[in-house]
Amino acid sequence: MLPSFFESVLQLIVRTSTDLPPDVRAAMKTSLDAEVEGTRAKQALTIIAQNIDLAAEGEGAICQDTGMPTFEVHVPVGANQVWMRAQIREAVAEATRRGKLRPNSVDSITGKNSGDNLGPGTPIIHFDQWERDDIEIRLILKGGGCENTNAQYALPVELPHLGRADRTLEGVKKCILHAVWNAQGKGCSPGAVGVCIGGDRTSGYTHAKEQLFRTLDDVNSDARLAELEASIMARVNELEIGAMGFGGRVSLIGCKIGALNRLPASFFVSVAYDCWAFRRLGVVLDAKSGAITKWMYRDPATPIIPMLDQAGFQRTGREVALQAPITDEQIRSLKVGDVVLISGRMFTGRDAVHSYLMKHEPPVDLRGSVLYHCGPVVVKEGEQWRVTAAGPTTSIREEPYQGDIIKRYGVRAVIGKGGMGAKTLAALKEHGAVYLNAIGGAAQFYARTIKGVDDVSLLDFGTPEAMWHLTVDTFPAMVTMDAHGNSLHKDVEQESGKHLEAIGV
Ligand code: SF4
Repeated sequence: MLPSFFESVLQLIVRTSTDLPPDVRAAMKTSLDAEVEGTRAKQALTIIAQNIDLAAEGEGAICQDTGMPTFEVHVPVGANQVWMRAQIREAVAEATRRGKLRPNSVDSITGKNSGDNLGPGTPIIHFDQWERDDIEIRLILKGGGCENTNAQYALPVELPHLGRADRTLEGVKKCILHAVWNAQGKGCSPGAVGVCIGGDRTSGYTHAKEQLFRTLDDVNSDARLAELEASIMARVNELEIGAMGFGGRVSLIGCKIGALNRLPASFFVSVAYDCWAFRRLGVVLDAKSGAITKWMYRDPATPIIPMLDQAGFQRTGREVALQAPITDEQIRSLKVGDVVLISGRMFTGRDAVHSYLMKHEPPVDLRGSVLYHCGPVVVKEGEQWRVTAAGPTTSIREEPYQGDIIKRYGVRAVIGKGGMGAKTLAALKEHGAVYLNAIGGAAQFYARTIKGVDDVSLLDFGTPEAMWHLTVDTFPAMVTMDAHGNSLHKDVEQESGKHLEAIGV
């Protein structure tokens, strides 16, 4: 068989998880330069830029959510796809053991994590034959936060702020704008969208995701679609959703549109939203040895240019130091826009922990605590655990539970990304707590603020879903929902809704 195939796939996975492709880096640099000094968006993008550099330098996962590995493989006629599939699966398991991929494959009924990213439907591997002699493997790692912001529209449809979207390119444009607006910061903006016009519900989503394999500077070969892509990009940033939904000048870094034939009765527009951590790379392999003959999307001979000159969080002197456990008085003194630096104990908790806490007492005393919506990448070294990537996850999933948990157990600060809803906002006010927005995807940046893993509870939920007891030092986050009924997320959604109306006419 091909002696270097396994090692080549492993290299592809590691590089994709840890090093953003040059076209995405360039777009993120442009975004950083476009924002005004001192704004929330600039601060968020500065952290993102540092995180991109840290990940590449230390070969750490750019974001702790390494997503659903999706491979697109082209092989010569007659190649043994059964063997290759097995090798790709083994390389995924090995990358997981090495902490380059987070264990992300969960039994949909029991919630049990397989621990190695293998299971029914994971990873996704598509094979196609071609007339060439070499093998091409492209990989995209797309996380859950942005996957949850995907959207599919059946035209004609009535859209908030935009009115009716008809079965025309103008109607398609309204759907795309609506999808970007609806994502707000939950998909870790600024993002990029892949779009499919037509197909059926299944092929539409697949083709939309395939558009994300095009580089951001690629011009569509179909002049009608090229014009539509350009017209979206010309206006979409007027939404002013900004990085992480903080408000700002850049909301989208790319829009790539494809089209499939459809049934006369159906007209779907499928939108695949990818976050700023837009991880996709590819390799071309020698069909006899499996060795890499060429990288796609990147030139290994060109050195990586750092996004920023300096490292570390840029302080303004106005940050508020918080030591956990936190008092009611400290919390009520905070207001939307404040930047806090948290030190002391922090507990992680996401979907499984929230569900558990609704029915059981917590395994630790949560009074005055900081609860971090985070599913970290954690590796065991001897008897010690070490966190290698630890950015926030999308908080809105915990909206049905969060208010009750704050009330029952006295949690004082919830950290996550994308904001939460009215029920949580009311609980923050009533019980004296705040919501803090960390920068989505900045997994390396935050991992460096974690000084130790002191313990872990509920480990049988799997490493991303367990409750980790962390000691952190000056972990920066922004108050985006305070104990006085204010929410930056609500404000930005309302304002950007007005902009959406203006763009859509
Ligand atoms: S950057 Fe945000 S949306 Fe993207 S994978 Fe990471 S947490 Fe998910």
